[in-house]
Amino acid sequence: MDNGQDTHELEAAVARLQAVRTRIVRASGEAGRDPATVQLLAVSKTFGPAAVRALAAAGQGAFGENYVQEALEKQRALADLPLVWHFIGPIQSNKTRPIVENFAWAHSVDRLKVAERLSAQRPPGLPRLHVCLEVNVSGEASKGGVAPAELPALADAVARLPALRLRGLMAIPAPAADAAAQRAAFRRVRELFDALKARGHDLDTLSMGMSADLEAAILEGATIVRVGTALFGERNYGNA
Ligand SMILES: *Cc1c(COP(=O)(O)O)cnc(C)c1O
Repeated sequence: MDNGQDTHELEAAVARLQAVRTRIVRASGEAGRDPATVQLLAVSKTFGPAAVRALAAAGQGAFGENYVQEALEKQRALADLPLVWHFIGPIQSNKTRPIVENFAWAHSVDRLKVAERLSAQRPPGLPRLHVCLEVNVSGEASKGGVAPAELPALADAVARLPALRLRGLMAIPAPAADAAAQRAAFRRVRELFDALKARGHDLDTLSMGMSADLEAAILEGATIVRVGTALFGERNYGNA
């Protein structure tokens, strides 16, 4: 980084990363948790390789993407960096192959058919794909995610797939009116997580909380917060 533009971009990335880390540390303290138990996933959708490179130079190593084609182009441009890529967008069953070939994690598995394809297509040379099941706790029919009532059966089936490693749950609760309502939605996800563990599943990951509500999520047990806007700025979907 030797010109003024790059230096400026790096300084801005360091400042935004520091601000988000401070929020994570404060919320962890309030929850009586070790901040090291909360992983920051930087959601880079709609932002180009230069923005990811700046955040990586600032010390961020895990990045989340929603759109396969956009992600693959970015990954190619950043292949020199040791980044860990998480797929967090809706998974169409005809897009599973590029996901299993190019990502370490998939957070948004909500159907057995998709999970079976991910497992069957995982290249043998790679470690098992880390998987979270997306659960719909807001009851919005338009949203992705398995209904809570169907979650135990899906978890049992996914846990048996040989090339997947079921790690936990992911949720994107509907925006809530206040902090108490935010926490109630995240608490519901944690209760479903605890119920799966009581059922015998060895789970360690609760992927929940974004720029606007990561504190509420951490208070309810989030172990991965997925943060875009607070790290990169407002998204312009025209660029995607
Ligand atoms: C875009 C996105 C995020 C990040 O949202 P921000 O509000 O920008 O932090 C997190 N999770 C998922 C699944 C997303 O699609």
